[in-house]
Amino acid sequence: MNKRTFIKLCSAMIAEPVLSPLLSWAAKERLKNWAGNVEYGTERLYSAGSVEQVQEFVKKQSKFKVLGTRHCFNHIADSTDNLLSLKSMDEVVALDPKTRTVTVGAGMSYGQLCPHLESKGFALHNLASLPHISVAGSCSTATHGSGEKNGNLATAVSALEMVTMRGDVITLSREKDGEAFLGAVVGLGALGVITKVALDIQPTFLMRQYVYQNLPLSQLKEHFDAIEASAYSVSLFTDWQDQRLNEVWIKSRMEDGRKFDATPEFFGAKLATKNLHPIAELSAENCTEQMGVPGPWYERLPHFRMGFTPSVGKELQSEYFVPREHAIEAILAIERLRAQVVPHLMISEIRAVAADNFWMSPCYQRPSITIHFTWKPDWPAVSKLLPVIERELAPFKARPHWGKLFTTSPMQLRSIYEKLPEFLQLSNKFDPKGRLRNEFLNMNIFGG
Ligand SMILES: Cc1cc2nc3c(=O)[nH]c(=O)nc-3n(C[C@H](O)[C@H](O)[C@H](O)COP(=O)(O)OP(=O)(O)OC[C@H]3O[C@@H](n4cnc5c(N)ncnc54)[C@H](O)[C@@H]3O)c2cc1C
Repeated sequence: MNKRTFIKLCSAMIAEPVLSPLLSWAAKERLKNWAGNVEYGTERLYSAGSVEQVQEFVKKQSKFKVLGTRHCFNHIADSTDNLLSLKSMDEVVALDPKTRTVTVGAGMSYGQLCPHLESKGFALHNLASLPHISVAGSCSTATHGSGEKNGNLATAVSALEMVTMRGDVITLSREKDGEAFLGAVVGLGALGVITKVALDIQPTFLMRQYVYQNLPLSQLKEHFDAIEASAYSVSLFTDWQDQRLNEVWIKSRMEDGRKFDATPEFFGAKLATKNLHPIAELSAENCTEQMGVPGPWYERLPHFRMGFTPSVGKELQSEYFVPREHAIEAILAIERLRAQVVPHLMISEIRAVAADNFWMSPCYQRPSITIHFTWKPDWPAVSKLLPVIERELAPFKARPHWGKLFTTSPMQLRSIYEKLPEFLQLSNKFDPKGRLRNEFLNMNIFGG
């Protein structure tokens, strides 16, 4: 099922009674993820439009998974039993200027939320490369943007409302729930049905985006810290060829003391003379405005514009989080694999993310750099390459992105997520019968 059919279907579902399966009449194709590489294991897709409907659903269905906007590249959101969409719960529930908090329904996407916040004079601290993704689904997998001082998107969460598998509605907050909150925010969809998310907000701000081309790898090795510290958000794109980074995307805030001085040259790279796509050969029409044109935060922080296809479309993605102190060693380890990587790659992106305290976050207690791969859609080839990459990154205890493709073994995952035992206890408390567990979670988290 393509994106448009899913959106149409979800709009149609709103009018339907919550507990009737909705796909049998609507779809000739099977329901797939955004990239089309995952065909979900069931056609039984349901919609809930309120907390009460979620509770009713939880009472009636013994096993299911909640679907966000389906942007994960692996089977984390998959079910062979039932899928539940909260897409129609996409409203701003409250905006409190005093506590600087916005509370949203779990079906809301960043693309819907950001213009609303802007109209009230507020902003979020950061966004991913695309605004199309749901707030609840993104935070559940520790989705991140860039900027060495910026935590991933989940670090903005101050409270979650969740329906547990006992059917209770509970709220977990940063203020009151200490460790349980830290375990639940990056919850991998394994703890309950998130129905509302409260997020920290701040006064709106303007940004400028500049792109530089061809930064020599030698400069990166020498000046990595200065490059990362040069602006609020820095993204390095490379195809690992010719000992250079193809593009450097610099997103700077315009307040005093934070401005980026856009000199014609940046560590040997040259200021671009037109808007660019991260893959320079592709049209920049889908990308956010560059060339230093001032604009609101939500139209500069993502690389891709709402209403346009993000990234490439027909692609696979993988990403690994490495402790910041091993940044250069890890980058060079991948560079040495270039002969194997290049034939299957569209583009790589290197970003910095601040540490956080969420048990299952790849940035748990460690400032990180992320090495991302947008692959050509050839899983047989990519699946052979990932273990090679993972072997090279293993000495740095690289943690894979929960929403992207990896082959890291469950044993290795256990050794790099020191809070996994506590996470298992927490999920046993909220979902004692494992009703939210699927094959992906059973294999990677719950030990078969
Ligand atoms: C083109 C593209 C670009 C991307 N760029 C980035 C990027 O810049 N940075 C980055 O870190 N990632 C990026 N990603 C990955 C993406 O952000 C994550 O995979 C994210 O989880 C997607 O959110 P979703 O709502 O689509 O998740 P889904 O795939 O729908 O679900 C993800 C998980 O969340 C759970 N879930 C969703 N809603 C709920 C709920 N209400 N209650 C309980 N559990 C729930 C699901 O069960 C599942 O476990 C990108 C993906 C694509 C396709």
